[in-house]
Amino acid sequence: MKAAILYAPNTPVAVKEVEIDDPQEGEVLLDVVGAGVCHSDYHYVTGHRTIRKAPMVLGHEGAGTVRAVGPGVREFAPGDKIILSLDAMCGSCRNCSNGRPALCETYRPEAVSRMSLAGEPLYHGRPTFVEQTLVQADACVKVPDDTALESACLVSCGIITGIGAVVNRAKVETGASMAVFGCGGVGLNVIQGGVLASAGKIIAVDTVPYKLELAEQMGATHFINSAQEDPVQRIMDITGGGADYAFEVVGFPSIVRQAIDCVRMTGTAVVVGVQPQGQDVTVEGFHLLEDRALIGAFHGAARPRVDFLWILDLYKQGKIMIDELISRYRPLDEINEAFADMAQGKVARTVLVFD
Ligand SMILES: [Zn+2]
Ligand SMILES: [Zn+2]
Repeated sequence: MKAAILYAPNTPVAVKEVEIDDPQEGEVLLDVVGAGVCHSDYHYVTGHRTIRKAPMVLGHEGAGTVRAVGPGVREFAPGDKIILSLDAMCGSCRNCSNGRPALCETYRPEAVSRMSLAGEPLYHGRPTFVEQTLVQADACVKVPDDTALESACLVSCGIITGIGAVVNRAKVETGASMAVFGCGGVGLNVIQGGVLASAGKIIAVDTVPYKLELAEQMGATHFINSAQEDPVQRIMDITGGGADYAFEVVGFPSIVRQAIDCVRMTGTAVVVGVQPQGQDVTVEGFHLLEDRALIGAFHGAARPRVDFLWILDLYKQGKIMIDELISRYRPLDEINEAFADMAQGKVARTVLVFD
């Protein structure tokens, strides 16, 4: 079976035939149907984040069907449709017990090797840029048989990360104003989350006009091209003194600073974007003293086995857009082209599809 492999930052991703192990105790082997190309993968290609162990098999957003289950797996059977969660949930650690399974302490990200190429180990988490993937049953969410996995794969990361940051983590109140810095695959879902929460003003900030158009389609009410004007000042003007919430969905400390600078007293800035490895975020101390808060939101504070299902329900009701987020479909062999499209701001999401 084929897999997309990164050997070192700033080199093209190689798509090669690899070997995959059989499922062991508590594991599920999936045939991948759709895999979203998320910026978090591209961060490893550019070196924004450090590869945990090379060569690394890429991908984390995806959905597929169960091909086989290992010993002890009783809740899934071959043919079941699965949306893979970014996080596995052990159900018994402190964070799982406390309703925060996205930060399960048992399954924090680590590089394992269940795939190999000519006898050499390949490293990965729960990769999706592969024809088949081997994952813990604890990371699988069974979804209804009528779910279109080619599109619903985006629920796995981009959709829940954005919507969850608004409704699970920040708990934006009806009528509140919010600014969204970065209108890519995740930022557009922060905007959708704002619509679900009935936010009053939803201010989209980006440097790419195409993304601001997508933001309008998703329900944003105000638009700022931050290449042309100072977003903090404009947000102050639009909201009459600062937004109630600001979401940083790009992944740069300077934009986190803009997010905290544009919220009003008592407002909250939320870090959603993946920050560069080892870099600090700075804030003006007095800003925090005026009851402003700076918080993070990992994977939308998801409870995957609850949240993925209601997201699909709302999609069926026309209250959440999924298809509109997908700019194009490509085969796995075109992964480098998909990353190039992303780098140039040409797409919201590309989905890799498999035969
Ligand atoms: Zn992602
Ligand atoms: Zn846990």
